[in-house]
Amino acid sequence: MPCPTCRRPALFSPENAFRPFCSARCQGQDFGAWASEDYRVGSPPPSDDQE
Ligand SMILES: [Zn+2]
Repeated sequence: MPCPTCRRPALFSPENAFRPFCSARCQGQDFGAWASEDYRVGSPPPSDDQE
């Protein structure tokens, strides 16, 4: 099956520890994209500090 990150054929077997990705690099890139997407949502939380 194709790697979700680079679209290259990835080995889908117990020997591939990074499946469905083809490598650790693709696995890390996918997670990084997901994380940045999460952080980009909305604005900074309001501060409850009293002046
Ligand atoms: Zn890949």
